Amino acid sequence: MAEVAQRFGPFGGRFVPETVIGALDELADAYERVRDDAEFRGELTALLAHFVGRPTPLYRARGLEEVHGFGPIYLKREDLCHTGAHKINNALGQVLLARRMGKRRIIAETGAGQHGVATATAAARFGMECCVYMGRLDMQRQRLNVIRMRMLGAEVRPVDIGTGTLKHATSEAIRDWVTNVASTHYVIGSAVGPAPYPEMVADLQRVIGDEAREQMLADAGRLPGTIVACVGGGSNAIGMFRAFLDDAEVGLVGVEAAGEGLETGRHGAPLTMGEPGVLHGSYSYLLQDVDGQVAEAHSISAGLDYPGVGPQHSHLKDIGRVRYTSVTDAQALEAFTRLTRVEGIIPALESAHALAYLADDEAAARSGPVLMCLSGRGDKDVDQAAAALGIDG
Ligand SMILES: *Cc1c(COP(=O)(O)O)cnc(C)c1O
Repeated sequence: MAEVAQRFGPFGGRFVPETVIGALDELADAYERVRDDAEFRGELTALLAHFVGRPTPLYRARGLEEVHGFGPIYLKREDLCHTGAHKINNALGQVLLARRMGKRRIIAETGAGQHGVATATAAARFGMECCVYMGRLDMQRQRLNVIRMRMLGAEVRPVDIGTGTLKHATSEAIRDWVTNVASTHYVIGSAVGPAPYPEMVADLQRVIGDEAREQMLADAGRLPGTIVACVGGGSNAIGMFRAFLDDAEVGLVGVEAAGEGLETGRHGAPLTMGEPGVLHGSYSYLLQDVDGQVAEAHSISAGLDYPGVGPQHSHLKDIGRVRYTSVTDAQALEAFTRLTRVEGIIPALESAHALAYLADDEAAARSGPVLMCLSGRGDKDVDQAAAALGIDG
């Protein structure tokens, strides 16, 4: 049995209080035991099929092809997952694992609210107590998801410290875990945090890439030339990329949030603009100010509004296997409108960042089939997008 990866090159590790090390070891052991266990895999696969709706379709976007003047362009439709994004793949897997470990209580942090909703959904399905930490500002930006979580029976705890966004909600969730570690499993929502989380989350999201690979071979008769995914913490991207890392001919592109512009300092692009440092238990690229303090991120999409990124992405950047780039809020909004109008699909603002990449990269156009990860749907974003686009209700 392979040991759950702790490091990706120099990145990752465990920078946490001593009290949590035992819990991380327990989690790593438990995950190592179940990851190849036929019964666990069978239970998870059945849930993914009948509860989440997997496999999600691979959709050929002929409208986008017409607009951009190249193709084929395929969308991996994670927006069609139950609860509206890829996050449920990970939340269900971790809640199933927590049950096996005898934990009764689930906690989570959330930014856009999608991970909170996914976790509250999985907890409701298995009758577990659930508490979600969410920044006050994010609660205002994502009111619909707050209501969904509360309907599902979760307690949503507002976090008032700092800017009221994901960074501080995560710190509060870690504090809760340190205090209640015997009864509680902390469901981290992206491929970030101390080991074994980055490896475990990537492994649970790998279903995206495994399915897409099979679907591309069946549909296009070949592997994609370029694969594009947006990168917040990096879970949808790494879940997609992992199935293709050994295929040197497949170009991989991760798109970060350039926010109001990289030069303004108001962005969420740690791989493009950051330096390595420690945040939330792991060593990875990170937005820092001149004193080495963790800087605030900014993005129109709450799910990309995070100053850190998963450690495997930092490694993939440094070894040059994945190219990381960024697009602004304005470019993402343009792509949001484009997909909505020409395909009849309203994407999440996060996913719109990946779509925006199509607009100005000629390399993608020449590389053969393009595979985009459409990580989620845009229902949660309509108020914000309407305000930005000047659309009346
Ligand atoms: C949370 C979220 C993201 C960003 O998270 P990753 O871990 O980088 O995937 C992207 N898209 C959607 C729809 C999300 O909800």
